[in-house]
Amino acid sequence: LVLIDAGHGGHDPGAISPHGGMREKDITLSIARSIRDELVKSGRIRVALTRDTDRFLVLQDRYGIARKMKADLFISIHADSAENQTARGGSVYTLSEVASDREAQRLASRENKSDIINGVNLGGTNAEVSSILIDLTQRETMNVSANFAKLLMREAKPNLTLRGTAHRFASFIVLKAPDTPSVLFETGYLSNAEDAAFLSSGSGQRKVGQSVSSAVQAHFA
Ligand code: ZN
Repeated sequence: LVLIDAGHGGHDPGAISPHGGMREKDITLSIARSIRDELVKSGRIRVALTRDTDRFLVLQDRYGIARKMKADLFISIHADSAENQTARGGSVYTLSEVASDREAQRLASRENKSDIINGVNLGGTNAEVSSILIDLTQRETMNVSANFAKLLMREAKPNLTLRGTAHRFASFIVLKAPDTPSVLFETGYLSNAEDAAFLSSGSGQRKVGQSVSSAVQAHFA
């Protein structure tokens, strides 16, 4: 069972593209549906979505659903934005206690803010809880996640633009389920004109869906 998580939703729009005003929450939902459709077509993988409508979910709920459903793989879908509009390309993140670089850290802190958007920390995470959760994360889960990230990059390479160092590590709350292999796929930059056009097009969304579907099938094979 693969659980696909469309990032953001409801009162949390995520990034907003300066090229046409597309909202990350809508793009992630369309891509999540495309991935689901491709996986269903394969006939070999069960698939579920954390949300199939425009609604808000706190980050803990997202991986909580994965654990409750005993998902074998959790894939969270996002689209990045940056001040530098030439920055483009997809990347895949897996959990690490220490972010691999400053930019990864910046992104993690921005994505993690989804839970404090109304001024109340709905996630209720503090350093202590976070560190206990990280300690509980089995090395095996992290290895499986990292291996899947590599497969995903391999399958995505012919279909979409990827960043130079496409597999990155960061402390995303949404990846902290201790026993569910999890990746966060930043599918591209909504701040970049080409990426925004690609990610909001039916053909671009289908290419992302096909890439994830092939990687999932290779993973379970
Ligand atoms: Zn996001």
